[in-house]
Amino acid sequence: MARSCSAATKLAPSAHAFAHLIRKDDVVILHDPQTAGLVPAIRALGVPVVWRCHVGIDSANRIAQDTWGFLAPYVNQADATVFSRELFAWDVLDGSRHAVITPTIDAFAAKNELLGEPTVNAILVAAGLRSPTAADGAPPAFTRMDGSIGQVDRRASVIEEQALRREDQYVLQVSRWDSLKDPMGVIQGFSDHIAPHHPAHLVYAGPAAADVADDPEATAVLNEVLSHLDELPPDVRARIHLAMLPLTDAEENAAMVNALQRGAAVVVQKSLAEGFGLTVAEAMWKGRPVVASRIGGIQDQIEDGVSGVLLDDPTDLAEYGAAVTMLLLDPAAAASMGAAAQERVRDQFLGPRSLLAYLYLLERLLV
Ligand code: UDP
Repeated sequence: MARSCSAATKLAPSAHAFAHLIRKDDVVILHDPQTAGLVPAIRALGVPVVWRCHVGIDSANRIAQDTWGFLAPYVNQADATVFSRELFAWDVLDGSRHAVITPTIDAFAAKNELLGEPTVNAILVAAGLRSPTAADGAPPAFTRMDGSIGQVDRRASVIEEQALRREDQYVLQVSRWDSLKDPMGVIQGFSDHIAPHHPAHLVYAGPAAADVADDPEATAVLNEVLSHLDELPPDVRARIHLAMLPLTDAEENAAMVNALQRGAAVVVQKSLAEGFGLTVAEAMWKGRPVVASRIGGIQDQIEDGVSGVLLDDPTDLAEYGAAVTMLLLDPAAAASMGAAAQERVRDQFLGPRSLLAYLYLLERLLV
């Protein structure tokens, strides 16, 4: 009880700030555990509150159970709780009030809009992610949410021995600098099990560590990756590119991610834990063959062997390397897997689907 009081007290200034924004016909949707303490305060304003949890764990351990127990008194006061997968729903909550809404991506956002190869190349060159090529006329342009046209002009900071060329094939993972995304495993597996069989490069891209204030571990993880690079054989090191994408303009950053994903031969998401794994849906939507861990929401997205490859054991570097190498060596298989992946996302993981799910939920709360 004392712990509950202190969490609510800490969030009191935020609750007070929100009170001015809320009108009587509103519904408030709070996201993730950090906001749980706001549920009672906002509920007290007389509007329905939905609490949505984006994180989840495949099999709850003791720490997860304790955390759920701590947060349940707040969350149980919400009119509805939303989880990304049925398996992620907490058993300490009132099951009659929960809904499952699968995350989706916005096909028209700068992250996912259709870009032709010349624009992909122009963006990669402008961002310093590829060496300059003879100009073919395409500007490094992307469409902003308000419909205006943006241009990529900030540069990523890339740690590499030589720049990627337009003709180089590359394997890509886009992730925060977090050990649960397993950057060390992605790199070591590339070195041991992919590089010896195929001339592809590896691009590992994440946000510029200094730009992410709420990710205190990022710098330490990046430093660990950098010292690991020094231990790799020189010919492999020469094919690894670590890209730090500037976050000053979120839509420009998204355009860089979009271009990287569209230009990749194979996209990897070799995480050790994952809630949903948006990067998987993003790459599938772009028709890329994806190799990803059979964990969390990734296993809801990829049908193994059809719309991507699921890795049974995310720590098995040989399994990961063999799957990526197979796709690099068999472009026809990669293309048909990419096509199936795009259809899978069109069917299940585009925005209108979650919009409808929210409408059903709100109807339940308001009618
Ligand atoms: N992302 C981005 N810029 C970056 C790195 C990542 O926009 O420099 C995005 C990525 O495209 C995805 C999101 O961050 O949309 C990461 O979501 P995901 O579910 O894959 O993992 P999380 O970071 O939430 O654990």
